[in-house]
Amino acid sequence: MPLNLYNSLSHKKEVFVPNEPGKVKIYTCGPTVYHYAHIGNLRTYMMEDILDRYLRYTGYDVDRVMNITDVGHLTSDGDTGEDKMLKGAKREHKSVMEIAAFFTDAFFADCKKLNIRIPETVQPATGCIDDFIRVISALLEKGYAYEAGGNIYFDTSKLDKYYVFHGFTEEDLEVGVRDGVEADENKRSKADFVLWFTKSKFEDQELKWESPWGLGYPGWHIECSCIAMKYLGERLDIHCGGIDNAFPHHTNEIAQSEAFLGHGWCNWWMHVHHLNTASGKMSKSSGEFLTVSLLESKGYDPLAYRFFCLQSHYRKNLVFCYDNLDNASASYRKLVSRVASLIREAETSADKEPDTEALAALKKRFTDALDNDLNTSLAVTALYDALKSPVSPATRLAAVRDFDTVLMLGLEEKAAAQIADEAEKEKAAAAPEAVQGFSDDPEIRSIEERIAARAAAKKAKNWAEADRIRAELLAEGIVLTDTPAGTVWSRRD
Ligand code: AMP
Ligand code: ZN
Repeated sequence: MPLNLYNSLSHKKEVFVPNEPGKVKIYTCGPTVYHYAHIGNLRTYMMEDILDRYLRYTGYDVDRVMNITDVGHLTSDGDTGEDKMLKGAKREHKSVMEIAAFFTDAFFADCKKLNIRIPETVQPATGCIDDFIRVISALLEKGYAYEAGGNIYFDTSKLDKYYVFHGFTEEDLEVGVRDGVEADENKRSKADFVLWFTKSKFEDQELKWESPWGLGYPGWHIECSCIAMKYLGERLDIHCGGIDNAFPHHTNEIAQSEAFLGHGWCNWWMHVHHLNTASGKMSKSSGEFLTVSLLESKGYDPLAYRFFCLQSHYRKNLVFCYDNLDNASASYRKLVSRVASLIREAETSADKEPDTEALAALKKRFTDALDNDLNTSLAVTALYDALKSPVSPATRLAAVRDFDTVLMLGLEEKAAAQIADEAEKEKAAAAPEAVQGFSDDPEIRSIEERIAARAAAKKAKNWAEADRIRAELLAEGIVLTDTPAGTVWSRRD
């Protein structure tokens, strides 16, 4: 089966065909680094990671770019409110650049814990101001933008089609107004959006740059278009982000990119649906701020959270609650134990080489699942199927290894750690005295060593050996008494 991906533009699953055979150019909307990423944001990055890894798995050469939003993203996506970065800086009593550096690092650390691959190019918006100015100037020249009240706006009336992802209306832009923020009187139409802010309501904006239109800063949407075009050229294969990005952010990205380029820009739009709490949308500002570190502090393995996410489809909302995470964690632990048993089985099995044909059959189930619009929950089922398949342990283990290059649940590594841990515990339990250390006196040491050997024999249910040691010591005048705290010895009078 070829790879079928749902395309938000056509509202259906389509066979994925890149512009250039064998090569895929992907752009991902990166984090706004005014706070830690919450686990909802990270669900989006995790599912995009699956896309990236699966394309590589199937042999594509993937070139992926992500921005870091460190300027211009206002508290309302409809160009009203305050710059989120400024809000974060005030909260932390730091400069915008300080919090940008801190939360960018924190984001990468979270990605590492969740086995999310960082794209080859990660570009902060503040590093591309000249590119934004160049594209905005071109849009003005082409008549797609206008100046009003000191700001530069994109003129949506110049487009044949603006609402490219249907299901969204002008009413969605009212959000900021409902929040009690003044509507922007400079806009000719409500759908128009800011490309560059100069004189605006945000006078205490910390970062400002010179531009042909005065000192100011870029709008949020222009950064993604420019960064994508800068690194990936004029044609993009896949653009991804969370579902809330579809409108107005991605709609505006398409408008300005196609107006600038004079032709189509990106063929596939992938949107990951939200992780919600039982009470509604997950947010950085209300309720318990759910971060990876918070889950860790409560004793959860970040990869158990990855497992939890993979069990649902990316185009369905997912409800987070601790009961659901507890269930996923328990299943994840069992899965790791099953892989540990498989490793032991494979080590003792004479058959070391995987059976190529059987492995291909197992892999087909896995790829069929992911080829069907990245159905990760069926891919996890394919993993369980492989574990219980009647093929040789080497074949099963090869399948687990192979699938985990995409699922990235760290199964073999965790299983190996579990095996080492169990071996360590067995050693300690078998010879508790050895752990405490033996006496320096050679005679006493010889007695203690034999007591330890007797304890090990008893643990191994080798009663004959345990009795032999007791008799041997008795013959030397040493009496052993077993107590709940261990074996003690005394000399026979
Ligand atoms: P932000 O840092 O707010 O710009 O968001 C980073 C990414 O997370 C974007 O792709 C958003 O669309 C996505 N996102 C925001 N909230 C959620 C959520 N509750 N569940 C999943 N993804 C989300
Ligand atoms: Zn974006």
